Amino acid sequence: MSELLSLEEALARMLDRLQPLPTTTIAVDESLGRVLAEPIVAHVTMPPWDNSAMDGFAVQAADVVGATKRWPKTLRVVGESRAGHAPEVEVKAGEAVRILTGAMVPVGADAVVPVEETDALAGVADLPDAVTVHTPADRGANIRAAGSDLHQGDRLLEPGIRVSPAAVAVIVAAGHGAVRVHRRPRVAILATGDELVEAGAPLGPSQIHDSNAPAIAAQARLVGAEVRRLGIVRDTLSEVERRLAEGVAWADVVVASGGVSVGAHDVVKSAFERFGELDLWRVAIQPGKPLAFGRAVGPDGGHVLLFGLPGNPVSTFVTFELFVRPVLRCLSGDRDPLARDAVRARLASPMTKARDRRAFLRVVLEPDPGTPGGWLAVSAGGQGSHVLSALAAANGLAIIPEGVDGLPAGAAVDVWRLEGA
Ligand code: AMP
Ligand code: MG
Repeated sequence: MSELLSLEEALARMLDRLQPLPTTTIAVDESLGRVLAEPIVAHVTMPPWDNSAMDGFAVQAADVVGATKRWPKTLRVVGESRAGHAPEVEVKAGEAVRILTGAMVPVGADAVVPVEETDALAGVADLPDAVTVHTPADRGANIRAAGSDLHQGDRLLEPGIRVSPAAVAVIVAAGHGAVRVHRRPRVAILATGDELVEAGAPLGPSQIHDSNAPAIAAQARLVGAEVRRLGIVRDTLSEVERRLAEGVAWADVVVASGGVSVGAHDVVKSAFERFGELDLWRVAIQPGKPLAFGRAVGPDGGHVLLFGLPGNPVSTFVTFELFVRPVLRCLSGDRDPLARDAVRARLASPMTKARDRRAFLRVVLEPDPGTPGGWLAVSAGGQGSHVLSALAAANGLAIIPEGVDGLPAGAAVDVWRLEGA
């Protein structure tokens, strides 16, 4: 019950046997932030045909060899090609077709001369009878060749990647209107503590606002989870059990904050034990050592994961980042659930910590004036596990390993960038 686990060991136990959630098909327009369950294969070739990269004139390159401002070449304009309309004319020797960006290059043309390199007017203008070209053009100049972006059958995106705005564009361009993604994890959140009141409520004596549940909800949404709030629960076993039952009936993951220490009213651990197995208890990290993790059986017979995060707000935040986030990413089908955006930085000032634990200290990353391209990690304020103001000022977590009491100014550390900070 009272094992002291390394971070890696704790994570391995949490991620053990965890499978991505079932898949579902949704409109590409709704897919931002969702995780692909299938590779995206191009249905179409892009561009589908040679098209113009410029507004100008489609010509035969041979006709404009040696053209200059002084000795221009004049060509007969036989028609026009514009986007959305297949050209009805061909370009023969001595001829040109006015062409607009994205329009099909007419048969016979092998180069496009930009309008700025001719005597024609840019912008809205009648089709001229002739055009005078001031510059030579290489074959293929200003032509975007068919297939120069992608070919039908190309594998563009792999399963397990999260759909970005750019991915939305390429999925649609490749011919898809819908994509297969994993179901979003459902996260039920409860806050325990007799001292807690809802956001915005006036504070009575010995009361504080429940900031943990809203923060957990925000962190869960940032990794794409669907959130349900189970509210604030008093520190009694029966009440925690009752709300936990509600969560287990709906969620893939239940996250409780507070009540996991060894205090006289810390009932979360006992409530978890009534629902299922309690897997671990203490992890060698700072902040956030007291932590409960368990598995309950959901209504469909599958596992519901239970997290009891420590109540100190910074501990809650950090333990979510360390444990709940990778679990949610794994359930989402993310192919790399532990990946973090990290940089190497130098500490701007000495930082201290508990020797036996790995510390995740709140820092602001700033460009290092001493090292071009380098980063400086500046303490974001008080490092106590209750100091929300410093957490909110931080944009990174500096990691100081086990085995030292701290590090001096100038020491190199890994810093995780905080998403959304
Ligand atoms: P606990 O883990 O329940 O012993 O709580 C540890 C500290 O965190 C205490 O100071 C609590 O008042 C505070 N705390 C617990 N839950 C919350 C919460 N939901 N929001 C803000 N602070 C909390
Ligand atoms: Mg409490």
